Amino acid sequence: MGLKIGVIRGDGIGPEIVAEAVKVLDAISGKFGHTFEYEEILMGGASIDVHGIPLTDEAIARAKAQDAVLMGSIGGDAKTSPWYKLPPEKRPEAGLLGIRKALALFANLRPAKLYPELAKASPLRDDIIADGFDMMIMRELTGGLYFGKRYTEVVDGLTQAVDTLIYNENEIRRIAIRAFDIAAKRNKKVCSVDKANVLDSSRLWRKIVDEVAADHPDIECSHMLVDNAAMQLVKDPGQFDVVLTENMFGDILSDEASMITGSLGMLPSASLNETKFGLYEPSGGSAPDIAGKGIANPIATILSAAMMLQFSFDLDEEAKAIENAVEQVLKDGYRTIDIVPRDGSDFVQVGTKEMGDRIVERI
Ligand code: NAD
Repeated sequence: MGLKIGVIRGDGIGPEIVAEAVKVLDAISGKFGHTFEYEEILMGGASIDVHGIPLTDEAIARAKAQDAVLMGSIGGDAKTSPWYKLPPEKRPEAGLLGIRKALALFANLRPAKLYPELAKASPLRDDIIADGFDMMIMRELTGGLYFGKRYTEVVDGLTQAVDTLIYNENEIRRIAIRAFDIAAKRNKKVCSVDKANVLDSSRLWRKIVDEVAADHPDIECSHMLVDNAAMQLVKDPGQFDVVLTENMFGDILSDEASMITGSLGMLPSASLNETKFGLYEPSGGSAPDIAGKGIANPIATILSAAMMLQFSFDLDEEAKAIENAVEQVLKDGYRTIDIVPRDGSDFVQVGTKEMGDRIVERI
């Protein structure tokens, strides 16, 4: 299979961690007989340094011409970097929002999985995570409260602020269909999270999800109120497979879910549009405090590449090969600085490049 992959190396640790993910992709192409062509795309601070803005029209056009885009992370130290002397719309993060919008990425996927070898880092009690957990938080990314009308006004002498939460049925249906498709490849369960006891938008959400569920009788569909979901995530995370929810609820629940894994630096993410196209990136930031030291953990970016193989290219076996290699490396005791065990158990400390090498060896 010949595939075109856009590569945004980004800022801070971005170039270091992306280099390892590309190395792993090359190992996959060698083993499975695919051809991956890489197209470098500038974004964030790296683009500001060259073009004066974080995202150019040319960068967007190049991204659109690819089958998928792999990204490191963007941004710098807000206190010391000259990028943050620029107005907000010219700072590195504006590039990220710009590319998500330009590529119409409406579905954000963040897996939250407990690695048995790293379970001690989870803040949850041993008995709660004894059987592990492996869920996919699916968040609607381009609608809802963050994209509604907002204004501040004075009414009868009192200042008030208004934010509107709007969803139409098409926005709900397209992400619900994606969620059921993804659940079909996992444990065949979708839990849709809303606030249908209060919000009209949530009642429409639930109705449309039920309609989509009716077309997928093989997938178990349940509904949960968001306040209960926040509790259930820490009480019994093993019950979840795909968690489908709207923009703001997903913003909050996906952070909660990543925290309970205890290994935020291990978590990949994907943002998809209506086609197979997606933007794949680690959940963490550009870690300017450790940039250039060769110690950053590349695993989240490597697993983002695995998500790309699975969701954009339907290369499930190849994606699994990467996931298995990562699990094996952890079993064999290799750790970057952010995941060293704190309980005195044995481990081999490695840097960014060596972690990539160890994973490649196991593919
Ligand atoms: P961060 O995730 O970059 O760093 C938080 C802490 O985690 C730091 O101590 C860092 O060293 C550590 N860390 C993060 N990733 C790591 C890795 N792979 N290996 C080892 N340690 C790792 O968050 P922050 O410090 O709040 O943000 C730094 C910059 O990143 C900011 O400019 C922010 O805007 C940007 N950011 C970008 C994205 C993105 O590109 N999607 C996301 C979040 C933050």
